[in-house]
Amino acid sequence: MKRALITGITGQDGRYLSQLLAGKGYQVFGLIRGQANPKSQLVLDENPACELIDGDLRDLSSLIAAMEQVQPDEVYNLGAISFVQLSFRQAELTAEITGLGVLRMLEAVRIVGGVTNNPIRFYQASSSEMFGKVRETPQNERTPFHPRSPYGVAKVFGHDMTVNYREAYGLHASSGILFNHESPRRGMEFYTRKVTTSLARIKLGLQEHISLGNLGFSRDWGYAGDYVEAMWMMLQQDEPDDYVIATGETHTGREFLDIASRIAGFDEWESFVSHDSRFERPAEVDLLMGDAGKAATVLGWRPKVSFEDLVRMMYEADMAAEQDQLDSGRR
Ligand code: NAP
Repeated sequence: MKRALITGITGQDGRYLSQLLAGKGYQVFGLIRGQANPKSQLVLDENPACELIDGDLRDLSSLIAAMEQVQPDEVYNLGAISFVQLSFRQAELTAEITGLGVLRMLEAVRIVGGVTNNPIRFYQASSSEMFGKVRETPQNERTPFHPRSPYGVAKVFGHDMTVNYREAYGLHASSGILFNHESPRRGMEFYTRKVTTSLARIKLGLQEHISLGNLGFSRDWGYAGDYVEAMWMMLQQDEPDDYVIATGETHTGREFLDIASRIAGFDEWESFVSHDSRFERPAEVDLLMGDAGKAATVLGWRPKVSFEDLVRMMYEADMAAEQDQLDSGRR
């Protein structure tokens, strides 16, 4: 039975990956921070066989202890401060967790068993935000980075460290440069989920307005369930490498809102959406569109869920959850 350790197991991707690996027969371990993390139970409800281990990406000794206890075959480093807007307000903490946290994980892997006969395989959750002010479109593994946020800068550090540990110490360390991926499990603070939840609540009369920032940004949006499969595929390769994971399509924030509103049954959204500059970034990433040609050729990975189906999935899940709360009298 293969053993996998996931950091960030309480996050969107961690929850999908935990279930994917359990379905493939892995024994899954998740790093959990804090004394009484409220999301622990959620992880156990979805994957009862999962074992949770205390640890924090700010604390190297806890990562080494987790690595020694689990003796994993594969490590997926998904833990991060992942919300770009927050990274502007808490830049130092973002550098500490999203950036230095990667170095600590690489050190823990190297110390505990990165270069043995059966080395630990390491996955780093890199991001299209590293491309930032893009130098070319679409972006691929050779496109230069120009991050536009403390989050993007920290991810570039983590990515470069992953490549460095691969080259310097021979670690089986791969970096997935994933473009935006969403799902009904996306955090409420993210644009897509904020739109779908708010529309469901407006439809049910529980909310009147949505305040949003700039709608003109363009993103390459895929489905998180498809993307965690790519993470696993990367670690099944004989040689570690870097891969862009994307759909190859780009859509604006306005298009997401248009489609979600239509799915929700509204003729227009202008009457209930207002602009609020507090939701804008000090430096925006205008256009992201990935070229996942290498992942298709080498890994055989392709996205399965279309943009419209993703928006529909998110809206319908939010509507069902809100309706359920109403019916059970919890409102
Ligand atoms: P997410 O939902 O925000 O989850 C982040 C996870 O990191 C949570 O489980 C959180 O745990 C954990 N974490 C935060 N601080 C930590 C610390 N000090 N020590 C240990 N764990 C800590 O993120 P996601 O969407 O699943 O994304 C997974 C990874 O992929 C992240 O690294 C993200 O930056 C990257 N990524 C995401 C996307 C995307 O579109 N989703 C695209 C490219 C890259 P708590 O529950 O304790 O807060």
